Amino acid sequence: MNDHQLLRYSRHILLDEIGIEGQQALLDAHVLVIGAGGLGSPAAMYLAASGVGKLTLVDDDTVDLTNLQRQIAHTTGRVGQPKVLSACQTLSGINPEIDIVALQERLDGARLAELVCSSTVVLDCTDNFATRHAVNRACVAARVPLVSGAVIRFDGQVSVFDPRTGTQPCYSCLFPQEQQFTDEACSSMGVFAPLVGVVGAMQAAEALKLIMGVGESLAGRLLLLDGLHMEWSSMRVARDSGCAVCGAVALPA
Ligand SMILES: [Zn+2]
Repeated sequence: MNDHQLLRYSRHILLDEIGIEGQQALLDAHVLVIGAGGLGSPAAMYLAASGVGKLTLVDDDTVDLTNLQRQIAHTTGRVGQPKVLSACQTLSGINPEIDIVALQERLDGARLAELVCSSTVVLDCTDNFATRHAVNRACVAARVPLVSGAVIRFDGQVSVFDPRTGTQPCYSCLFPQEQQFTDEACSSMGVFAPLVGVVGAMQAAEALKLIMGVGESLAGRLLLLDGLHMEWSSMRVARDSGCAVCGAVALPA
């Protein structure tokens, strides 16, 4: 780290749990953020500001006027632009010293597997079960931790699925991929704007902790936020040995 970086990240470095070593781990990390909408905006903005060395942002959508109520990485002037390019402008404005890769596509199959393999942590900031399950399968296969967030109406949830030890549940242990869940889209259900900020910022916090190996992650716990009464609750999530995704993965020796 040069003097300029020591200054930029000084309020992190001052923290005993982070220090120069932790900040260096952030600078050396590659975080994959899937979705550049309500959750992906604040998550990616905090990751960029915090000095995560490489951010890959994936979204195939363009900025729409109805997004601006909550997707804070985008601006009125960028309506119609690809979300990843709009977010890229915001992120490089916050921190021009990091490497930002913008992919305007819907990832799946080998392409998703390849990107997950090269990532330190993956953030699921999408809004549909099909993508969530594809991302979970790729993370389990590559043993890369996944930070998952979701918000609809006044309700939010956040958790970490960490396949590195072979003892923690995966996303499919909680929401089995063979079960049918109905996607509740923001477009039809509505979403209270600041809740995506709360949950997205928590996803960034969990990602940073996982990269630096500090504290205790949300692995094995699902946090639920009732934004209408502003109450958090926590639910234990156990690994399902019969899970179709992680049940088939051998425990590390
Ligand atoms: Zn599982």
